[in-house]
Amino acid sequence: MGRVRWTGHPFVDAGLAAIAAVAEVRQLEELTQQHLQKAVEELKRVLLSDQALGLGVQKAFARSAMSQIFPNSELVNPSNWRGGTDEEKAENVRQKFRSALQADLQRAILCLQKEGGEEICCACGEQRPSEAMVIVRKDKMPLLEGIVNFYPAFAYGVRICGLCALATRFLPMSVLRTGVYNRLWFLHTHALPIATKISERYGWQHFNSLIAKNETLDFFSRWETAGDAGTVLYLLCELLDEFGDTLRQVYEHPLPTTAYIFSNDNRGGFISALPIPNELLVFFYKLHIESVSAFRRFWRELLQVPKELQGQALKIRIGFVQLIAYRLLNMESILNACLDHDTSQLLGGWVGHRLYLQEVRKMPVSKLAILERLGITIAQSDDAKKRIMELRTTDRSDLYRVLLRYVREGWLKHEEFYTLLPPNEDASAGEVRDILLAVIYEWQHCQERDEEFPQLKEAVELTPDETLERIQSIGEKLMNQLPNLSRWIGQLQTARTSDRIRAVYLSAVQRGALRFNDFVFLVPLGDRQWLWLLRDYLLAFLFDRARQMLGEEVMQEEIAVAE
Ligand SMILES: [Zn+2]
Repeated sequence: MGRVRWTGHPFVDAGLAAIAAVAEVRQLEELTQQHLQKAVEELKRVLLSDQALGLGVQKAFARSAMSQIFPNSELVNPSNWRGGTDEEKAENVRQKFRSALQADLQRAILCLQKEGGEEICCACGEQRPSEAMVIVRKDKMPLLEGIVNFYPAFAYGVRICGLCALATRFLPMSVLRTGVYNRLWFLHTHALPIATKISERYGWQHFNSLIAKNETLDFFSRWETAGDAGTVLYLLCELLDEFGDTLRQVYEHPLPTTAYIFSNDNRGGFISALPIPNELLVFFYKLHIESVSAFRRFWRELLQVPKELQGQALKIRIGFVQLIAYRLLNMESILNACLDHDTSQLLGGWVGHRLYLQEVRKMPVSKLAILERLGITIAQSDDAKKRIMELRTTDRSDLYRVLLRYVREGWLKHEEFYTLLPPNEDASAGEVRDILLAVIYEWQHCQERDEEFPQLKEAVELTPDETLERIQSIGEKLMNQLPNLSRWIGQLQTARTSDRIRAVYLSAVQRGALRFNDFVFLVPLGDRQWLWLLRDYLLAFLFDRARQMLGEEVMQEEIAVAE
């Protein structure tokens, strides 16, 4: 006895999922001859219904939307629709389709009855008996293109097995439309619970309810979202939210999942693949576990296009959702786009963003914990308004100065400064600023609602690396041996040029508070950027550890930045 398994062929697999959904099996291997028969009866009932063929309803789904998947199939072919009344024409089409489907079913059953065979199926790669094989072309298998019906080796089509041919007949039961552009798509995954849920809910149930209401059939498209990527992510969120209990495991241990956007109409087919990163599925799963309301907020505020929007507001929202969805699928940074400075809001909520940074962007939790604490301190300060405005207008290079000031004020330890702005990660400065603003906006949001800010509970432990250890030992020697330390620190923080910084260091060498090799370390030849960065780390250490010794003039003076 042959068994049904995944084939790796997207169209065939999506059809198998639709069969499994209507047969209500938990594994493809459980599918029997009886299941196939039952599934075929259901398919006929849907596709040959009056509502599919256009009897008594506005449009013929079978000849319009369906022909985008199977052009010139038995349901479309004009010769089948010739002569007689509408009823007679429809009856002729029904006959043609029934007998074609019956032939497919017989060949599929042969595949189940006989193991092995003399031919290899082009779609599933299984060995099958010759009598179970069939030649298919574009009308039965999407995207089989060829010049005037010629296929590889001048064959008249491609030989596939009866099981693959039958499964592909069910593809429409797994196909959906995307938001806004209405393109056809389906999800290719070997996670059967997800694949069957999609087919069950947006395929079979959707079509059945249209038939019950006597409405024209069409593929499911009632998404409140925009764009291809947006629709795919919206669906994944909706499934998780509604069937969390049954689907959680699949999200926790995801299998490779790809969304295919495609068309197979006669004007020329196309297909594009959107791979869905596992990290993203795990992120959604963990967010849903952590807090259902945070999950829903992230989903609603980042992926939903509310029905009531119109005109320019609708346009703007569509653009935003498309951008965010695209970035999510590519695992890119989204925080900056989600900060609404006009209303001081973080779209998507902090819990969602924090987890995204952690799970998808791989940001260490220690860094997030530091920024959370700092953000709350800023939000709670007396001059919060002024400081928030400063952060908003701060560019990347200026951020070092702002954070150094926080160290000087005792809001940040020098190790924390180092962790937030580590060497060789210049690009992360922008993200640090965005996270601070995100925390501040969310904290204010919680205050207004009288809610508790969802702060991380983790204790932060930082272990210094080689560079920081060196800075620490240099700083300690300066603290111990330099007379009038405060004045010296004041000179260092106001030095505007590399030459001036070098001169300040030299004065410490002269007084025996800085070793010559440390001087060389702090002033590397020809590397101006590194010199300024090391100065920032050294200042941070001295602000932090020598705070008691700092005079008023040091505390007031503006810290110079590289010119
Ligand atoms: Zn096959």
